Amino acid sequence: MSNDHSLLQSFGALLVLDADSRRILAVSTNFSRLTGIPSFAGGELSLACVLGKRLSQRVRRELQGEQRLPGPLAFIRPKHSNVRFQLHAYRADEQVIVEIEPLNALGKRRLLGTVNERLMHLAEATHQEELLDSLVNAIQQLTGHDRVTVCHFDSDWHGLMVAEALGKNLPSLLGQRFPASDFPVPLRQTYEIHPVRLIEDVNAPPETLMPERQTSLRGSFLRAPAPERQRYLKRMGVRGSLSLAVQGDNAGLWGLVFCHSASAHPVEPPVRDAVRTLVQMATQRMLLLRARQEARYLQRVQDSLVLHTQECNEPQSPQQILYEQAATWMKLFRAHGVVLWVNGGAYQAGVTPAPEALSQFVLRLERVHEHSGPWCTRELAKEPLTCSLAMPDQCGALAVPLPMNSTQRAWLIFFRPEQVETLYWAMQPSSIPQPAVIAPPSVAWYEEVVGKSEAWQRVERLAAVDLGEDLTLAISAYEIRLLNMHLERERQALAEANQRLERLAHFDPLTKVWNRYRIEEAINAELVAASRYAATFALLLFDVDNFKQINDTHGHSVGDDVLVALARLVESSLRGCDHLGRWGGEEFIVLATHSAADAAVGLAERLRMLVAELRIEGLEQSVTVSIGVAVWQAGDSCKTLISRADDAMYRAKHGGRNRVEMALEPMLPLH
Ligand code: GH3
Ligand code: MG
Ligand code: MG
Repeated sequence: MSNDHSLLQSFGALLVLDADSRRILAVSTNFSRLTGIPSFAGGELSLACVLGKRLSQRVRRELQGEQRLPGPLAFIRPKHSNVRFQLHAYRADEQVIVEIEPLNALGKRRLLGTVNERLMHLAEATHQEELLDSLVNAIQQLTGHDRVTVCHFDSDWHGLMVAEALGKNLPSLLGQRFPASDFPVPLRQTYEIHPVRLIEDVNAPPETLMPERQTSLRGSFLRAPAPERQRYLKRMGVRGSLSLAVQGDNAGLWGLVFCHSASAHPVEPPVRDAVRTLVQMATQRMLLLRARQEARYLQRVQDSLVLHTQECNEPQSPQQILYEQAATWMKLFRAHGVVLWVNGGAYQAGVTPAPEALSQFVLRLERVHEHSGPWCTRELAKEPLTCSLAMPDQCGALAVPLPMNSTQRAWLIFFRPEQVETLYWAMQPSSIPQPAVIAPPSVAWYEEVVGKSEAWQRVERLAAVDLGEDLTLAISAYEIRLLNMHLERERQALAEANQRLERLAHFDPLTKVWNRYRIEEAINAELVAASRYAATFALLLFDVDNFKQINDTHGHSVGDDVLVALARLVESSLRGCDHLGRWGGEEFIVLATHSAADAAVGLAERLRMLVAELRIEGLEQSVTVSIGVAVWQAGDSCKTLISRADDAMYRAKHGGRNRVEMALEPMLPLH
């Protein structure tokens, strides 16, 4: 008895050749019936006897060093020009397998027209739903199956029926799910070898090989369905089946197209090819539509922050950014809460966890989440990281680390609520065999999925990472601005301190006029100018008369008031180019530039009289000063000049006070 691996369907015939593709080792039992070539009588039969010399040579040549023929070959049986065949050959172990199918010439042109027209429809589709609808209708038109469906696999390999073209009076399977057990791994793998699988009649008795051989025909297009598949299809009420792989972009199986009929249903090779072309075109279009949609989505997320920051003149704080963007982001990420965790502080909007749980969550993320990609779950309560945290309103979370600096990360976290989902299962694995209608009773059972949020899609995770990067930049810009502001404040404080120091160094703290150091500096500068340009100047040294008495009688603070008022009065009566300085105690110096003796004495008199008119609150008597005037003489130093003024001032004191005295001419050195 042949094993399952050498059972064949009868819509084609099969030859087993030696590795050299010359000798026929076995043929399928339907070989003569199908091809009309006299039966294999046990004697030696060469491929040339069946295919003719030229074709058999071509097969040998094209298979040389190859696993399979690059494409099918068509041939006409010698002397029977009305019967055409299609031939395919491949290597299996140490043998060559040749599969032969009859070809009916009819309708080829019509087929091409239909395919072209349908391809145009596919190319015009702007949404996946529209595209797949268009595809299933096109396929149904081409093959005539009762039901054509597109089944999309989820990440657990459960199949969801996403598109359907239906014959009359059949229940719809649209939106229903088939469990992953309906699509076991070996079954899915066969689509990698043959993206198209035709089972013309599930009930047809299988062909075997003559003479009997232990040859595995697992890679054969003609192989008979495995018993469990047969049972499955029968339970579905399916006799004729054509299925095709829909390959996703990362070479995984995105889904399958199923064409089912309640009766045996042949599908000729050209029709199969046409269907395959349509599926491939639809797949490409679908991937393109998805890529476009994802690009648009990514752009929208990116724009949300970038456009916003462009509108603002200066960088915004994380808090401002979050509060202004939260609503947009929650909508884009289908979240009901969002948290921006920066520098140990949480800014949040929408429905977010309590502070304690949130900080624990971030702490744990920091500890276990090493890489820079997002962390996400749709079942917070089942995730080891979060199951012990009290976050009753949250079910899903997507957390993106923002690399702020080498030691610290900020986090952008989105939260989703529970999304109770009802899944409609078309096939309950244990269900009883159904009568001969395609499909089980419309819904076999349904399931409520609780404790899960909506899944975080790949593009959402990508967008969150992009957003995280942009946010990192925005927050850094803000922090740089803060630092600059801080630096600016420091700089200002420093400038103020310097100004204070300058004041302390040059001004008398009580009267706010120049101090002794500063007026001495000015006198020295004037001395240099005078000796260079012979520009004369004068010094007026004055001292308050009987000041001790004012202090003693009215107190020190009245004494201070006198000094302040006196300084202000004198300073305000001077020309802009003259200067007043406090020489010490109640002694002041006026530096009168460009002044010769007469002018200086005149100034001194004017000041003396002004002072005498000064009235101080709390002081009945007038304040007077005694003034000594010294005019620059060639060879003067600061010391000699002041000393002459001092002498003159003392003469004024001795002369009765409230007076002006001119310094005596210096003694000219004797020759
Ligand atoms: P004379 O007419 O001879 O100048 O008599 P006088 O009392 O003004 O002279 P004396 O030098 O004896 O006294 C000066 C006083 O000025 C002594 C000192 O306590 C006082 N004095 C010096 N600096 C200050 C100050 O900043 N504020 C006050 N209130 N008093 C000062
Ligand atoms: Mg005095
Ligand atoms: Mg004095």
